[in-house]
Amino acid sequence: MSLYDVLIVGSGHGGVSTASTLRHLDYQGSIAIVSADADEPYERPPLSKDYLTGDKDFHSIHARGPAFWQEKGVDLILGETVGAVDPEAHKVTTAGGKTIGYGNLVWAAGGEPRRLTCDGHDLGGLHTIRSRADVDRLRGELGRGEHVVVIGGGYIGLEAAASLTKLGKHVTVLEALDRLLARVAARPISDFFLDQHRSHGVDVRLGAAVTCIEGENGRVTRVLLADGTALPADIVIVGIGIQPHVAALQSAGAECPNGVRVDEHCRTTLTDVYAAGDCALHQNSFGPDRPVRVESVQNAADQGATAAHHIAGQPVAYAATPWFWSNQYDLKLQTIGLNTDFDEALVRGDPTGGRFSVVYLREGRVAALDCVNMVKDYVQGRGLIESRAMVDRAALADPAVPLKSLVPQE
Ligand SMILES: Cc1cc2nc3c(=O)[nH]c(=O)nc-3n(C[C@H](O)[C@H](O)[C@H](O)COP(=O)(O)OP(=O)(O)OC[C@H]3O[C@@H](n4cnc5c(N)ncnc54)[C@H](O)[C@@H]3O)c2cc1C
Repeated sequence: MSLYDVLIVGSGHGGVSTASTLRHLDYQGSIAIVSADADEPYERPPLSKDYLTGDKDFHSIHARGPAFWQEKGVDLILGETVGAVDPEAHKVTTAGGKTIGYGNLVWAAGGEPRRLTCDGHDLGGLHTIRSRADVDRLRGELGRGEHVVVIGGGYIGLEAAASLTKLGKHVTVLEALDRLLARVAARPISDFFLDQHRSHGVDVRLGAAVTCIEGENGRVTRVLLADGTALPADIVIVGIGIQPHVAALQSAGAECPNGVRVDEHCRTTLTDVYAAGDCALHQNSFGPDRPVRVESVQNAADQGATAAHHIAGQPVAYAATPWFWSNQYDLKLQTIGLNTDFDEALVRGDPTGGRFSVVYLREGRVAALDCVNMVKDYVQGRGLIESRAMVDRAALADPAVPLKSLVPQE
């Protein structure tokens, strides 16, 4: 049995940050990353953007340079899925039968795309976008036909729709709710992106309930909706969110109500077991008064760093300011703060001009900003978020008032 001082499960943004931060802190113990992913660690955001369109190749999305892992003395154990954790014996077992011991375990296993359950969910031509292998499979099938149906109008579905439109595909987006991005943004953002996608030729259908996928010879041919519509489909992309990957930790006894519960140092309820990233349920100091899971590169990287600091004996509680971005067509959406459970949204600027921000308030304080092609608001809004400012609404909504002038001075 191999044994590491720190064993990291997952080679995504959380896992990479944990290992890099440990070495940056001059941690001298042995470190390994074990990952279900067979590829060297890479950046996930380009998968629905430049990597899908082919504008970036795999080498340009590597998380670190080719020599990094060897130079830093981090072993990569790739293509191995951890199926069980034994917290008493401090060891994990992989589906391939490997047993690996650990001093500290950092669980950064992200999530699994939710799948459809209706008839036809298992036909060929259905895809999810989570890993490089997913996108390579999808790209390999793009020559098979023109009609792509994207199920789910969240960020990944919409980015994929924009990328495939760029590649000349006829794209239909199906959203079950009455607006796009309903779980992550306020209506002005939803309406704006709806207009943008329609103006680029995407057939967006709201309130669209998929009843089944039809196929021939094992491959998808049509998507059927509850209202009787039958949409031709050569390829279907399912982008309906993720389930956090925590089954092994849950079986080991960790508290996993929706993801694995962690404290401000990213410690789970199991001794010497930490968790970071999409799978970590935590109390975020910029969020509402309830634990949340945050699915972003920032959160994964900063939580990985938080776990590393604690392991290296230099604890710093997790308090990073949340940020996020999404690129669709020539639009750059940048988010600062967390809008979860917001109770008011103010529009700043004119969406019809393609440059505006939405300011989210929670209990009267600025909780987050979504900035569309408004880098200045994104940069200056940080001060408002970090000061938990209560600011005059009229001033916030007036694009002529620079946000930095509204940040309370100490
Ligand atoms: C297509 C796409 C586009 C995105 N775009 C953006 C964006 O523009 N901006 C942004 O902020 N965020 C974006 N995100 C979200 C962001 O990528 C995630 O929040 C981030 O990757 C989370 O990092 P993580 O380390 O928690 O999980 P992941 O990056 O998902 O890594 C999890 C790793 O764990 C491995 N694993 C899972 N289970 C096991 C197991 N049992 N044993 C071993 N290994 C396991 C997986 O193979 C994977 O390597 C995007 C995500 C996707 C999928």
